[in-house]
Amino acid sequence: MAEKIIMMTEQRGDVPVIPSTLETPTGLLSDQLARPLHDLRISVTDRCNFRCVYCMPKAVFDSDYQYLPHTSLLSFEEITRIAKLFIAHGVEKIRLTGGEPLLRKHIERLVGMLAELKTVSGKPLDLTLTTNASLLARKAQSLKDAGLQRVTVSLDALDNATFQRMNDVDFSVDDVLHGIDVAHQVGLGPIKINMVVKGGMNDQEILPMARHFRGSPYILRFIEYMDVGASNGWKMDEVIPSAEVVRRISADMPLEPLSANYSGETAARWRYADGSGEIGVISSVSQAFCSDCTRARLSTEGKLYTCLFATSGHDLRALLREGRSDAEISSALAHLWRARGDRYSELRTSQTAALRRSANKVEMSYIGG
Ligand code: SAM
Ligand code: SF4
Ligand code: SF4
Repeated sequence: MAEKIIMMTEQRGDVPVIPSTLETPTGLLSDQLARPLHDLRISVTDRCNFRCVYCMPKAVFDSDYQYLPHTSLLSFEEITRIAKLFIAHGVEKIRLTGGEPLLRKHIERLVGMLAELKTVSGKPLDLTLTTNASLLARKAQSLKDAGLQRVTVSLDALDNATFQRMNDVDFSVDDVLHGIDVAHQVGLGPIKINMVVKGGMNDQEILPMARHFRGSPYILRFIEYMDVGASNGWKMDEVIPSAEVVRRISADMPLEPLSANYSGETAARWRYADGSGEIGVISSVSQAFCSDCTRARLSTEGKLYTCLFATSGHDLRALLREGRSDAEISSALAHLWRARGDRYSELRTSQTAALRRSANKVEMSYIGG
């Protein structure tokens, strides 16, 4: 039997340095690789009611697993304060994630608080949320009313048995499809559907998924299975490269490439040659997009990660709770972003093999997808 990996719930992190000279944000920060700061992903809970095999495998996330205590979590007021400081540095898009974000109590209240924030450019803040849809049908209307613009829904198969093997808690495909329809009806669109493709597990579902969503109002995106965290037993030979996904679909329903909607878009877009819609492929492994990565991630307990594959975060909660001023925290953020040089996926080679095995790598459910 495989040895059980002992997970650390509280992650390593440093308390960011407050620069001696405080600065006024300009909205034009740039890191070591000239990447601006445009997106903030906020994890609002490390808990989830699914046990997706590639994210929270049951063998690790079992009844002994210690989730963060409530006092460790950032409050909605703390999250909103940090989000506001990020927005002053140029963030225009905020995605709520987790864990399962709809499990966080009164999440609509947080959505309402964030929806009031104004970007530096004057464009409306793009406020979105990624969910497994288990609670979506119930919550879609209240999320819309609170000011959420759209949702992205994860669905890894249309075949119920395959989907249940992936989520490992017997949640059914029909319930996800119902959640998607309700979200669409209340206006939480355009809705994107994320399918993580794990070779040998759900890759036979690529074509049925493509056929099902072709011609629908929903944009299906295929995500390469990534080596995030240290618990999913990732192996390169279980990654189905996006080029193969496109090849398989195109053999049946011809596809043509489309240009990106905006710089930094993670998905490469393809449209059906007959005009019946488009799909996206996210090639995090086979074609890294670090050079365009404009994303910062805030963990559930307030650590800032400048890369999905980081082994430690920067403890913004410490700054909040030791009474630092907005100007101090904002200057610390600017300092951290300017120092950022992360490009893990571009370096994903033998150099990163040791890191891959490291139990220090943070889990997707903690840092947010
Ligand atoms: N629970 C929500 C959900 O599943 O939509 C939000 C959090 S989940 C961590 C965010 C996204 O990360 C999901 O679309 C999920 O499929 C994706 N994800 C998780 N682990 C992954 C992995 N190892 N490789 C690629 N994508 C992964
Ligand atoms: Fe939960 Fe989302 Fe991870 Fe699946 S991918 S276990 S739904 S957090
Ligand atoms: Fe961004 Fe890190 Fe992913 Fe590269 S590996 S795209 S820097 S999160």
